[in-house]
Amino acid sequence: MLLRLSDGRTVESVVLPKNAVCVSTQVGCAVGCAFCMTGRGGLTRQLGSAEIVAQVAAAREINPAIRKVDFMGMGEPAHNLRAVMEAVQFLGTYGDFGHKSLMISSSGSRRLFQHLMALPRQAVKPALALSLHSTRDELRSALMPHADKMTVRDLVAAAEAYSRMARTPVQYEWVLLQGVNDGVQEADGLIALLAGRSAMVNVIPVNEVSGLPFKRPPKAACLGFVRRLREAGIVSTIRQSAAQDVLGGCGQLRSRFIEGAAGSAARRALDISA
Ligand code: SF4
Repeated sequence: MLLRLSDGRTVESVVLPKNAVCVSTQVGCAVGCAFCMTGRGGLTRQLGSAEIVAQVAAAREINPAIRKVDFMGMGEPAHNLRAVMEAVQFLGTYGDFGHKSLMISSSGSRRLFQHLMALPRQAVKPALALSLHSTRDELRSALMPHADKMTVRDLVAAAEAYSRMARTPVQYEWVLLQGVNDGVQEADGLIALLAGRSAMVNVIPVNEVSGLPFKRPPKAACLGFVRRLREAGIVSTIRQSAAQDVLGGCGQLRSRFIEGAAGSAARRALDISA
């Protein structure tokens, strides 16, 4: 879905299989991931908590059975923490969502971990997905130039501490980029990093973006990467990239809309300003 806000700006949400929706938390994003269309334009503005919850309501118009919300669309939830956590607490308290069915996806930051670890006992404790993409600090910094400068080891240790408190495994997100982070060295680095931890790895073959140099690895390479993790005892799956039929989900649909080249899907942008 492409959704129009009260000031005319737009964000993407993706209605996913298995009764889930992926929502945006910001218009644009300041993290600047090298493979992401949203990251190219920088941050425009924060979304309010009502604008985040409205995306869920709009998705339930399409699928009333939606019971899972991934805060994984446009934006870095850790950079809009107050509104994101308001939405999490609201949906988990009044929205008929199990706490573990609300998942924040973040590149990680000290502020985020401090906030999560300080949640009171009765508060909704969302599941956490940590965008890793490399076990090497230099490569991760190059891929995510404006992410918090925590080391990979510190990120994983902080995520693990929250996982124990919230009693839910951490999901590690790994956008697979051909020739960049799809090799044996990275797979083995991940195995060494996560061995013995309560974790699962979601491998996401990249959504190729016109004008960016990153390629989606062939299917056999994706399967080989995951097989290597699994053989070492790391729970891992390949995530299908949703919404490729409308070039959506990574800011691409919105980008085409802004550039005036959108197709029929974007012309049906829903107005959620009310
Ligand atoms: S992948 Fe996520 S964190 Fe990175 S620039 Fe895109 S929206 Fe921001």
